[in-house]
Amino acid sequence: MIYLDHAATTPVPRAVADAMYAVLTEQFANPSAQYPMGLEMKKQVAAWRRTIAGALGCDPKALAFTSCGTEGDNWAVRAALWQNRHLGRHIVTTAVEHSAVLEACRWAQQDGCEVTYLTPDAQGNLSAQAVLDAVRPDTALVSIMMVNNELGNVFPIAEIARGLAAKNPKTLLHTDAVQGFLEVPFAARTLGADFVSVSAHKIGGPKGIGALYVGPRVRNPRPLLPGGGQEDGLRSGTEATAQIAGFAKAVELRLSGLEETLARMASLRDYAVEQLSAIPDVQILGGGAPHILALSLAGWPSQNIVNDLGAQGICISAGSACHQGKPSHVVAALKLAKRVSGGVIRLSFGPETTRDDIDQCAAALRRHHDTRMPML
Ligand code: PLP
Repeated sequence: MIYLDHAATTPVPRAVADAMYAVLTEQFANPSAQYPMGLEMKKQVAAWRRTIAGALGCDPKALAFTSCGTEGDNWAVRAALWQNRHLGRHIVTTAVEHSAVLEACRWAQQDGCEVTYLTPDAQGNLSAQAVLDAVRPDTALVSIMMVNNELGNVFPIAEIARGLAAKNPKTLLHTDAVQGFLEVPFAARTLGADFVSVSAHKIGGPKGIGALYVGPRVRNPRPLLPGGGQEDGLRSGTEATAQIAGFAKAVELRLSGLEETLARMASLRDYAVEQLSAIPDVQILGGGAPHILALSLAGWPSQNIVNDLGAQGICISAGSACHQGKPSHVVAALKLAKRVSGGVIRLSFGPETTRDDIDQCAAALRRHHDTRMPML
């Protein structure tokens, strides 16, 4: 099998599974328990939190565990609207956010908020100025993703943060960094965003665990889950200790040799662009992050390509994994010609991806082009 869908999810390395297994079977105590095994688990959770916070570039106290990236996104939107409820009810976001942010905004709209959805240009880029121009005195929240999950474009979060501080210092800034964490360099402490959401399963960790950075400008945030008081009272529920252990181990593994890994992935992406561009009717779209490559086989429906390559053991996606065959809102936002937008596929790479994987994928795509009729 050739797996080129790391932006959807990633395989869990053996060391991560082992770390989780040990917690599930031996170190299974509740971190709130008062006997030695519980006290030890509390210390362990603190150590794992330090590891993840270190990789995110923030104080461990500023990091709350969540059940996934989606939860972090929803939490950030709600927390910002709550803090700024007297400032206003306007949100600025993009039309190409993950559904986790878009749906949270749509729910906010039903509660009376007004949302401005910014559209990137045809290359998938969005300028900081376009974001700042949309900010009004009553803007409670700006939520802009760090790396687009379907196109790989990197949005200028630090520049947006600086502009926002000058234009409207009370507006809170959230960035969904689920595709940016350990893929593009940043430190939450200096980025200028008030909320940064991340998810473990995109970087070799287990599904079902994420984290939300909550910066110092967020005052008395309303608990997401009131209850037993875990996560500093902000998100109650017994800590998912095995998941957290797996998350920390995955971070540790990714951190070792990270620069070389990212450089290798970037050169692999360049190599893929070279190989795939040589296929007639291929159009490369967007780009920026080292692990995501979007392209269109203009004229050939993307779902047919995914099915054909899938049958040959090559896993790629037609847009985000969350769309399950529905047309992608991200591709639609680019306003491309129908034959181009209908043929968009995404390849995404991980540390273990090889040139041979790319070669085989390119050969299968060429065969698809040469043997199937264009239908768009
Ligand atoms: N945000 C982005 C940009 C994503 O790519 C994803 C997952 O695909 C999510 C949020 C949701 O993360 P999770 O699957 O952990 O809920």
